[in-house]
Amino acid sequence: MKIVMLGAPGAGKGTQAEMLAKKYDIPHVSTGDIFRMNIKNGTELGMEAKKYMDQGLLVPDELTVRILLDRVAKEDCTKGYVLDGFPRNIPQANVLDDALSKLGDKIDYAINVDVPDENIIRRMSGRRACLACGATYHIEHVPPKKEGICDKCGQELVLRDDDKPETVKNRLQVYKEQTQPLIDFYGKKGILHNVDGTQDMNEVFEAIVAILG
Ligand code: ADP
Ligand code: AMP
Repeated sequence: MKIVMLGAPGAGKGTQAEMLAKKYDIPHVSTGDIFRMNIKNGTELGMEAKKYMDQGLLVPDELTVRILLDRVAKEDCTKGYVLDGFPRNIPQANVLDDALSKLGDKIDYAINVDVPDENIIRRMSGRRACLACGATYHIEHVPPKKEGICDKCGQELVLRDDDKPETVKNRLQVYKEQTQPLIDFYGKKGILHNVDGTQDMNEVFEAIVAILG
């Protein structure tokens, strides 16, 4: 099963993708997590990506597409995967489609997690991330057991550089201009499903599972 998660930054894609990955035993593939891991490890890719991420801009397609295609070609992705944060624009979606169709394959579901802008700002300013394992928390809605520490791996949680209010505004604008058109793109393919992302995360999850079966 190959799933694409759509939605504004902060809508809850990563949270749901992680839960789906566990339930269906498929990898959660987040290009944002891959970039953040590279930044943390000081790789060349990380340094290049950071220039764009810190401004709330998309990392150039040449770089992003290569990383994503390498990742989904790995052995653990043969049964399927949940993509979170990719594709981010129509050219990326076309590259993914072409790569899959060469293998006689396709994306099965695009799930749009719908959350209005006013909730987004609150979600992102309260988000705390573990840069070591990619886990995500929220200081009010999804707090870790011990403040500031990741439940899963014990590392310190941080406010992402790009979750600061100045950058959030840019990211929302980039989303509206470049990413939102993907809703139509997958709608036309007949695989788009909308879920109300303002509900509690377990209710959002149930709604998605009801779609996937
Ligand atoms: P995205 O991957 O779409 O950027 P995240 O999954 O990181 O979004 O979620 C953004 C923030 O909102 C995180 O702090 C997360 O813990 C919190 N969150 C996710 N889903 C919900 C929900 N249904 N209700 C309240 N907060 C949520
Ligand atoms: P995310 O973790 O999905 O919120 O992504 C954080 C940042 O990483 C984005 O604001 C972009 O700068 C970069 N990024 C993640 N995925 C992509 C992508 N598919 N294309 C371009 N940039 C991306």
